[in-house]
Amino acid sequence: MKFKIFAEFCNRIEATTKRLEMIDLIVDLFKVTPVNEIKWLVNLLQGKLHPDYVGLEIGIADKLALRGIERATGISLKKLSSWFVETGDLGLTCEKALRIKTQSSLLSFLGKEEDLELKEVYNGLDKIARASGKKSQDIKLDILAGLLMKASPLEGKYILRIVTGRLRLGVADATILEALALHFLGSRDQRIVLERAYNISSDLGLVAETVASKGLDGLKEFRVHPGIPLRPMLAQRLASPEEILEKMGGKCAVEYKYDGERMQIHKVGDNVSIFSRRLENITFHYPDVVKLTKLHVKADTAIFEAECVAVEPETGELRPFQELMHRRRKYGIQEALREYPVSLMVFECLFVDGEDLTNRSYLERREVLGKVLSEGERTKIVESEIVSSPEEMENFFLRAIEDGCEGLIAKDISEKSIYRAGKREFLWIKLKRSYMSKMIEPVDLVIVGAYYGKGKRKGIYGALLLASYNSEEDVFETVCKCGTGFTDEDLSNLPKILNPFKMESRHARVRAELDADVWFVPSKVIEVIGDEITLSPVHTCAKNSVREDAGLAIRFPRFTGRYRDDKSAEQATTTKEIIEMYNKQLKKIEEK
Ligand code: AMP
Repeated sequence: MKFKIFAEFCNRIEATTKRLEMIDLIVDLFKVTPVNEIKWLVNLLQGKLHPDYVGLEIGIADKLALRGIERATGISLKKLSSWFVETGDLGLTCEKALRIKTQSSLLSFLGKEEDLELKEVYNGLDKIARASGKKSQDIKLDILAGLLMKASPLEGKYILRIVTGRLRLGVADATILEALALHFLGSRDQRIVLERAYNISSDLGLVAETVASKGLDGLKEFRVHPGIPLRPMLAQRLASPEEILEKMGGKCAVEYKYDGERMQIHKVGDNVSIFSRRLENITFHYPDVVKLTKLHVKADTAIFEAECVAVEPETGELRPFQELMHRRRKYGIQEALREYPVSLMVFECLFVDGEDLTNRSYLERREVLGKVLSEGERTKIVESEIVSSPEEMENFFLRAIEDGCEGLIAKDISEKSIYRAGKREFLWIKLKRSYMSKMIEPVDLVIVGAYYGKGKRKGIYGALLLASYNSEEDVFETVCKCGTGFTDEDLSNLPKILNPFKMESRHARVRAELDADVWFVPSKVIEVIGDEITLSPVHTCAKNSVREDAGLAIRFPRFTGRYRDDKSAEQATTTKEIIEMYNKQLKKIEEK
């Protein structure tokens, strides 16, 4: 197939504003595409060469692209750059340059000697993507210029857009699936089989090639393959436990919704691959997760899903999601690994030793998960429970928040609760905290207890139990546990500072439901900043004032470094102030 045909269709697709028209155009394009080229065509239509999970991007920098045009047309870099600045579009720059070259050359009279083939362009781009090492820039430039020398202005426009990652025709997966159904299966009705094949293979090119060559039967042969990611199942959202239970038939499982990075982990013998939610291969960034997988998965081949969360190195407590972003760096992986350790919270098991579990029910998958995963300090099966009343769900929700989670995910437990790859349906429903505003003011809290440290903090305190002052009842009410923000010096000084106030048991004026390793006379005040104030089932601050059976807690508290020795315990932030901050926070959300 000539690349010219592809370029002409791209031009028409770009010009249309109607989705149905776009589908018709793609169907017309399929009509003229040989079966053995459809895979390339489908990928190129989305500006790719391979499915995302292969992780091979063309990615030529603008400068190199301009040099490619210069070499192919003889037009100076300076001129080309000025056109590029004018239009902001390398595709148009290339089109203009090729037009000028063609007009001024003999070729315009004679016609081009040979037309570019789709296959030739695809292979050229693939070589560009794979070029690596010292000479890679030269190799890329040679190939690009070689293609452009043979290209018409329109072809050049699209080659440049693809090669710089800016094709953006707006052709979504769903659009292509619909066109495939219409053209190869005769109607939209069979889209579901196409979709299933795509959702478990994540490879639209392969799906297109299969339906083109083998029809419906070929699609039905698609299987889950360890090593190849499935498109992840997603959750719907509802606002209250009542609505969720109604949707789920009065009873469902609830799981902690951890706030981290979703991982689909594939184990094939000793080989472990990790895919992100967007199906990028992120194995390189997480050698620790590879190790954990080998250590805890008792199966030769398996596919799991887990939320990977950042944790406090000493205490294992959850850290905010943003901390994980430090793990996505290119260099210094080993340091990042030490500074930002993670835990795996496993919630799915999709394949074990030759058996595809995606068509089994949630409870069956859960049972298998329990058998093949041995839990450890850094690898756990997510906290879960079966609930059948809004109160039970609400309590679970509060516990989840208290433990540093975002909320909960309710999961259908009926027979129909299969793993629906790539789908967002009501088999999973999320319930999140309804407010997300940041806590901006720091608070001054009283140290009422402490916990012994682990690991590096062995022998000293690893976290403190902090309280606000309830001035009406003259008691101290716990509002958070804080182990973050302390320097090594702070940590080694804490016992010296606090031990004079040590007590055998909880002080009479301290109201606490949590236990502590050590209790203190409420005296020392420190400044703390948190992310926000949330409802809490375990902290006693404002218990029953905002909601029955719930208190308030500061989420993700950090010591700011300021000891408030200028304040007595009774001058610390009051419970009333914390309630006001909480209400202000809620109001801000409503105003948004
Ligand atoms: P959202 O990203 O808000 O649509 O919520 C769904 C996401 O929650 C999933 O993609 C996972 O990354 C994450 N998650 C955290 N805990 C769980 C869990 N127990 N089950 C399923 N997903 C979870």
